[in-house]
Amino acid sequence: MTDIVVLGSTNMDLVAYVEKPPQRGETVTGREFRTVPGGKGANQATAAAHAGGAVSIIGAVGNDSFGARLRSTLEHAGVNTDHLRTVEAPSGTAHIVVDDDGGNAIVVVPGANGTVDHLAPGDEGLIASADALLLQLEVPLAAVVAGARAARAHGVRTILTPAPARPLPPELLDATDLLVPNEHEATALTGRTDPHEAAAVLLDSVPAVVITLGAAGSLYAARGAEPLTVPAPRVTAVDSTGAGDTFVGALAVALGEERPVREALAWAAAAAALSVQRPGASASMPYRSEIETRYA
Ligand code: ATP
Repeated sequence: MTDIVVLGSTNMDLVAYVEKPPQRGETVTGREFRTVPGGKGANQATAAAHAGGAVSIIGAVGNDSFGARLRSTLEHAGVNTDHLRTVEAPSGTAHIVVDDDGGNAIVVVPGANGTVDHLAPGDEGLIASADALLLQLEVPLAAVVAGARAARAHGVRTILTPAPARPLPPELLDATDLLVPNEHEATALTGRTDPHEAAAVLLDSVPAVVITLGAAGSLYAARGAEPLTVPAPRVTAVDSTGAGDTFVGALAVALGEERPVREALAWAAAAAALSVQRPGASASMPYRSEIETRYA
């Protein structure tokens, strides 16, 4: 089994469905409300666990009912939460208004995620024992850098999803083995809209890159190797929320099993294609048996 540690965020998504979003000063009546466990850290952890990894998460939830639900949802997915701290702060929340045109407006309040600005005692030992460390940018950069450095010191593969997009400090890039931006993040990081050009720029800073291209699949580029484009299975997408996190979680498992890169990318694409055919983020993440069937 691939041992994976995810250092990242947990959020409760509070989703209101409305006909038209409210303007400033206006109150509108919504049609439906849902609370959905999310956060990029928790989503990648869930995806990797469903895909067959042995997964632990490092992060924090609040000492509130959302925190208890975020923890139990992760545990139910098979994720070890011994390093998910409960802190005296509200759990992270994302306040999402979805309108009938499919548009959305989102306010993220980091809450407990904001306290994840360092490695706690025991975190480095956990990272040292892993095959891969998955990182995103929804917790303070200081912890992301500390995690990446710890992984590098112990020879553990670091996979960084640079979302939400922001400039990346050299000390983080120096400790990153594989960078996995989507097209928008790749453009934000490089100023290039062409994925091949963006990948070439990113290879100045990291040894390998996967740029995810939505329904067009993904582009892999590594120093000293020919770029590789891996298509996505053609499916009817109903909800692409969490597709990127599903892709990364499954990719980490496949790489940990030492599958060749092309096969690992196709396996991750099979997982993500399954997820976009179902509503929701973590609820839509496929299990290993489903991925194997889709991939075959
Ligand atoms: P999200 O923010 O929605 O989680 P993302 O923007 O981070 O996703 P994308 O590049 O849109 O990432 O998608 C990630 C991967 O998911 C793609 O590389 C592809 O394998 C798969 N995928 C996304 N959309 C589709 C689709 N419509 N059909 C098939 N596969 C898809």
